[in-house]
Amino acid sequence: MPYATYEHQGRRRIGRVDGDRLVPLEGLTEIGRNTTVDVLAGAPELPAESVGVDEVYLCPVVPSPDKIICVGLNYRAHVDETGRELPTYPVLFTKFASSLIGPRDDILLPAESSQVDYEVELAVVVGRSGRRIAREDAAGYVLGYTVANDVTMRDYQYKTHQWLQGKAWDGSTPLGPYLVLPGEVDVAAAGVRTILGGQKLQDSDTSRLIFDIPTLIATVSEFTTVLPGDVILTGTPGGVGFRREPQVFLADGDEVTVQVDGIGSLTNRVRRES
Ligand code: MG
Repeated sequence: MPYATYEHQGRRRIGRVDGDRLVPLEGLTEIGRNTTVDVLAGAPELPAESVGVDEVYLCPVVPSPDKIICVGLNYRAHVDETGRELPTYPVLFTKFASSLIGPRDDILLPAESSQVDYEVELAVVVGRSGRRIAREDAAGYVLGYTVANDVTMRDYQYKTHQWLQGKAWDGSTPLGPYLVLPGEVDVAAAGVRTILGGQKLQDSDTSRLIFDIPTLIATVSEFTTVLPGDVILTGTPGGVGFRREPQVFLADGDEVTVQVDGIGSLTNRVRRES
């Protein structure tokens, strides 16, 4: 039972995905700070108000998280292609809610950057608040999983030794399409890939994560309270455009797909910002 956050007739709602229809949940407007594991599981459905998935605007599946924490170097092949040392502690950076776009929105190429790159990632959505969560308890804090394209402006990422500007550009990061509950997918070895112009440019699986999901939740919650709706992007495998020869960047008119098996697929058009 995946869930979406969507807008229809001026209202934002959570819908349970039922084939090509969305069945709204009573009293909930979006996956976020109010959707604990228990709230989502217990919300009554309103089947009489169901709507076709093609009739709605799909929001970023978590439209306004308190925190988006991203892991920088979490697959060996990606660490190797960057020429860096294997990390012994997760490299973390953040994005803002304003960085997110919906699953069907266009990725806009800003005039300022000439190196806009793709990164397929498994994203974890938190479902309980917690601090100093032990690794062995971490699974109980997961609301579900979704897919992100950690679109990155490489020329801005590497302007300084902080990655913020290259990673937190407004309206850059597709998140969705749906939230998939932990009991319904095995994320221990889910395939992850990026397809651009019919070519598979990233192709790996989550068994190759250097820091697994429980370790990431323990690491993040050691220094900050995680809240329901917080999103953790788990890192990207090798094959990013910046490290290819020749380099590949997103261009006006492209269509880029990122997939995580069992969780979902995001296909976004790429368009020059006007
Ligand atoms: Mg990334």
